[in-house]
Amino acid sequence: MSGQRKNSKENVLELDAIVIGAGFSGMYMLKRLRDELGLNTRAYEAGNGVGGTWYWNRYPGARCDSESFYYCYSFSKELLQEWEWSSKYPEQPEILTYLNHVADRFDLRKDIQLETRVKSAHFNEKTHRWEILTENGERASAQFLISGVGCLSTANVPAIKGLENFKGDWYHTGKWPHEGVDFSGKRVGLIGTGSTGIQATPVIAAEADHLTIFQRTPNFSVPARNEPFTPTKQKEIKANYDEVWEKARSGHGGFPYSPTTRSALEFSSNERTAIYEDIWQEGGFKFLWGSFADIMVNKEANNTAADFIRGKIRETVQDPVTADKLMPHDHPYGAKRPPIDTNYFETFNRDNVSLVSIKESPIEEITPSGVLTKDEEYDLDIIVFATGFDAMTGTLLKIDIQGRDGESLADKWEAGPKTYLGLQVAGFPNFFTISGPGSPSVLSNMPVTIEQHVEWISDCIQSMKKNEQVCIEANVEAESDWVTHVNQIAEMTLFWEANSWYLGANIPGKARIFMPYAGGLPTYFERCEDVVKQGYAGFEFSA
Ligand code: NAP
Repeated sequence: MSGQRKNSKENVLELDAIVIGAGFSGMYMLKRLRDELGLNTRAYEAGNGVGGTWYWNRYPGARCDSESFYYCYSFSKELLQEWEWSSKYPEQPEILTYLNHVADRFDLRKDIQLETRVKSAHFNEKTHRWEILTENGERASAQFLISGVGCLSTANVPAIKGLENFKGDWYHTGKWPHEGVDFSGKRVGLIGTGSTGIQATPVIAAEADHLTIFQRTPNFSVPARNEPFTPTKQKEIKANYDEVWEKARSGHGGFPYSPTTRSALEFSSNERTAIYEDIWQEGGFKFLWGSFADIMVNKEANNTAADFIRGKIRETVQDPVTADKLMPHDHPYGAKRPPIDTNYFETFNRDNVSLVSIKESPIEEITPSGVLTKDEEYDLDIIVFATGFDAMTGTLLKIDIQGRDGESLADKWEAGPKTYLGLQVAGFPNFFTISGPGSPSVLSNMPVTIEQHVEWISDCIQSMKKNEQVCIEANVEAESDWVTHVNQIAEMTLFWEANSWYLGANIPGKARIFMPYAGGLPTYFERCEDVVKQGYAGFEFSA
């Protein structure tokens, strides 16, 4: 590790900044603070490798839903020119290789401590420093504490009666074994049909003897239409990178689509279907974010997209009873995070795949030999939980974080997370969150918003150093106004109309609050810049 200072009396490692996590966020934060600001910085990472989400999520079929050439860092033009993506939507190992390359290329590893989970972080009001304790019993202190723990890193394994008695093997997709799982000749049960379950289904089905999918909520999905990048395509991308990033940063969700202002309701039914068909053939998130401007704000407009997808499901799935069960009906398209798939609905035409609606016939328990629903018992060798995450707050709240007056973050956020700009929490000086609740985060192409956050935070710290300020802290009014604003924006959308993890609805007992900022990147970025121009309005500094 570089630049260590140890207070030998207390055995506390003294640093300028501590970063939690070494995924997309943590690695770039470390780089900025260390290389641009010259701060003695260390990143603590629970995994035994870098990569965050892409380190943990090794389930079959895991790949990115944003296109590779803009699901990456843009801070280094050289890196953009050097790196070759193999295809539009590369699989998890390729993204992990990329992140490992970044760690090596920028010499980050020497300041990343692996296999180290931060257990507690307490703000010491006398020294104005954060004191952290790791699960290995190590102590460190720093002026700044930055969370790069990610939005989707605490696995949600539902508390289903009897799981401990299951004689087969079970896995959660977010904690997949590094050595992989051999499904050949196995009867597999998959619980969950979110983005993960939808990616995993076709791949497991191709290998297993039989795959039973236990579906609670039928979901919409749009084909990814993955394809390899030819050398000509690679060249074209690299020649146009400036334009790609400009478009991505000015796009609502951080995607480099040409902006659209058209309404789905301005067109005749035939014209609209032709537009949807074109985008369906192109594939990917563009169906939601690049087709019509009002899909997420107008129910009637949304219905046109939802009906189109339902039509595609009907056309694709040969058995009408299965097609009926797969038909999404209880939420608007896009109100749950929209999956992107490769042959998901087609997989239900295989002889070795069956679908069980656990809305109609709920799971009663897991028995030693499989899953028992209200109507039937399914014998299984392997159960795969694709049941998602305690999103956006789960991982932070697993750490005992205490700010001023010993107030814990868990208490402060009991009724739902409160932040200012998704960047800071009142009462927790010098603590920053990258992609925190209240930021666009999961409603965006993450690397674009992560880079903006990291740069905002490092610019802020640089300004503090220049002005000899010791602490920055969001003020309570600014925080409360921001939370209100985030909710008001969400209320103007259809996001409220689904039981999604955006609202915490997937975790029993979790406060139902819309967590990400739905106002779009341009508005959010402008707001962050305005705050700086107004002398960090809404923040208080102490010298
Ligand atoms: P998810 O979207 O939360 O979906 C979880 C699934 O499990 C849902 O079908 C849910 O049903 C079901 N489920 C949850 N608890 C259950 C229970 N107790 N009993 C039965 N079913 C239960 O989780 P995910 O699919 O892992 O995706 C999480 C997020 O990760 C995504 O939304 C996305 O942001 C990200 N992700 C990204 C990529 C990518 O870009 N490459 C790929 C995968 C995931 P209900 O719908 O009824 O709650």
